[in-house]
Amino acid sequence: TPPIFPPPGLNGHPEPDATSSKNASFERVQIVNDQKQFTTELTTQMQQWGMHDAGFDYDIVAVFGSQSTGKSTLLNRLFGTNFDVMDETQRQQTTKGIWMCRGKNMNVMVMDVEGTDGRERGEDQDFERKSALFSLASSEVLLVNMWETQIGLYNGANMGLLKTVFEVNLGLFGKQTPDGRTQRTLLLFVIRDHIGQTPLTSLASSLSVDMQKLWDSISKPPELQDRKLSDYFDLDFAALPHKLLVPEKFETAVQTLRTRFTDKSSPGYVFKPVYHKRIPADGVSFYMEGIWEQVQTNKDLDLPTQQELLAQFRCDEISAAALAEFNEQAKPQRRPIEAGKVVDGLGQMMRAWRSGALARYDRDASRYHQGVYKRKRADLVAVLDSTLSPLFQGQLKNLAKQSLVSFKQEILEGLKGDSYDFAQIVGAARSNCEKRFVEGAKEAFVEETDWSYEEDLSILTEEVQAVADQCRKDETKKMINMIERNFKRQIAEPVEVYLGQATPTMWDDILKTFKTTLDKAESSYLAKARSFNCTEEENTFALASIRRRTWMVLRAKIDEQTSDAAFLTKLRTHFEERFRYDEAGVPRVWKPEDDIDGFFKKAKDETLDLIPRYSKIKPTDPSNEYTIESDSSDSLISGDDEFDFASTLVIFSDIKAIDISNRFRKDADAYYVEAKRSTVSSIAQ
Ligand code: GDP
Ligand code: MG
Repeated sequence: TPPIFPPPGLNGHPEPDATSSKNASFERVQIVNDQKQFTTELTTQMQQWGMHDAGFDYDIVAVFGSQSTGKSTLLNRLFGTNFDVMDETQRQQTTKGIWMCRGKNMNVMVMDVEGTDGRERGEDQDFERKSALFSLASSEVLLVNMWETQIGLYNGANMGLLKTVFEVNLGLFGKQTPDGRTQRTLLLFVIRDHIGQTPLTSLASSLSVDMQKLWDSISKPPELQDRKLSDYFDLDFAALPHKLLVPEKFETAVQTLRTRFTDKSSPGYVFKPVYHKRIPADGVSFYMEGIWEQVQTNKDLDLPTQQELLAQFRCDEISAAALAEFNEQAKPQRRPIEAGKVVDGLGQMMRAWRSGALARYDRDASRYHQGVYKRKRADLVAVLDSTLSPLFQGQLKNLAKQSLVSFKQEILEGLKGDSYDFAQIVGAARSNCEKRFVEGAKEAFVEETDWSYEEDLSILTEEVQAVADQCRKDETKKMINMIERNFKRQIAEPVEVYLGQATPTMWDDILKTFKTTLDKAESSYLAKARSFNCTEEENTFALASIRRRTWMVLRAKIDEQTSDAAFLTKLRTHFEERFRYDEAGVPRVWKPEDDIDGFFKKAKDETLDLIPRYSKIKPTDPSNEYTIESDSSDSLISGDDEFDFASTLVIFSDIKAIDISNRFRKDADAYYVEAKRSTVSSIAQ
């Protein structure tokens, strides 16, 4: 029989002697440290163990199980390794990590996982999960160590962890290797403190059923849905008596179990070729590091800890409650905003609802896992803000609308007075409007959001400008109308007088008066237009319009004064003044010796001479001539297609002149007859 080695120490440690502690072949190596880093020394260690050139002639075994179930003790007894054993009496500190040791006198790499006791700490669970997966994925035989009393207890036997590990292992390493093999692993259940009342076979079948259930419950990648537990794992079982109560029996059982690792001819020999990973010994370090890398970077393993799960659940609940209260508060304001109302103090309300909800969340949720608490808080903030944002946007829209309306009202109000400065009214109204909007927008703003009112403000500014422009145009029109009315009043009398006098320089006088009156009209326009901030273009249009319209006013006045009836009266009066009155203005009493024919002819001819003078606006001095350039902008202003200035100079046509003179002649003849008759009657008396 092989020698028992090493002699058990007090705590299961190998005895510190020259052959063990100083012999390089016993040296342990921490292949993964507590920072979850893989060692760079494994290859060197393999060389020191003398295993580097073993080719395929080596095996790997690892252990899985709850803390302090005697795992390290078992490994040390089975393989002669020197892993740390927890000393119950001293509670000595063990160094966290995955440790590896060469089995004594055997080409076996033995791995032990050292955790800490704090089961509820998330960090430890993460390490526990990753190290368990690493053990499962890298070893040929995984010793699943458990107390007999743990069997059937889901949590007690670490079944939850095993389930997770199976799941991720299947996802990561479950597919066939390139040479078409499926990785196979032996799960050797070692039942500790086996009392013996329940035979191993029934414990084994109960464990098999549990494992089968566990396998069925794991979620599998779609392409591996049909894979069975037996496609990946063989299950085997061993039992060990109580180490402290029946130490000799324990020892014997361990030795028996040990042969299953050492004796290839043993019926229960565990290192079957089918479990071998087919990695040459000199590549094992690299291979294992690769596995660790995959384990480390795998996101599926970052399963939330119990603490996180709890935090998620509670933070969701707390958040939902805070949100419900918040919604209750926010809801009544939605309708008025949608209806176009500006809600007074909306910003203050929104800030209160928001900070209230967050305070409530913080009060209850901040006690939970900080990562989850913060994440859920950010989610809550996003929901709160997405509820408030439409209220803010709506308020801005309504505010802009309201501001624009009051801007218009303020202008209309300002224009009601008799004398006003248009530009000043608009300027004041504009700044009031923008101030009102900005104040309202600032009130509605909620800090810590990415909201802004800049865009709404610039739209409002544009609208205000458009309204102001329209008002200015209306005002300009009004002003031009007024200028036209004034002009009409000013021109009426002089035109009547000049047309009445009918001197040869009649048109010179009329045009001179027209021009000075027009100059006054133009400068009164320009004076006002400056305060309106009218554009150069608008001024050009307005002045052209003024020139055109004043001209037409003049023409209308001339037309009124030269209507057929008015003109005939004028001619008649002119004639009468010359025929019926003498030079001193005394009415003539015709005597038979008077040269009636001569007076008649003279007065008639002088009167007929007037007709061509009236027929066309034509000053004697060309410098008094007036003209309006006809261009395209003219027709834009007046709206007519064509404005033919030359034709406006013609008061009446030649045909009309003949007609008028004929009618005048008849009137004149009547006077002549009347004059003749008066001499006859004076003779008769
Ligand atoms: P590990 O944390 O699973 O590696 O457990 P250890 O090997 O460090 O052992 C923890 C404690 O259990 C130590 O005090 C051991 O002496 C004790 N122990 C080891 N093996 C057995 C066993 O088979 N039965 C009992 N009852 N205690 C054991
Ligand atoms: Mg241990």
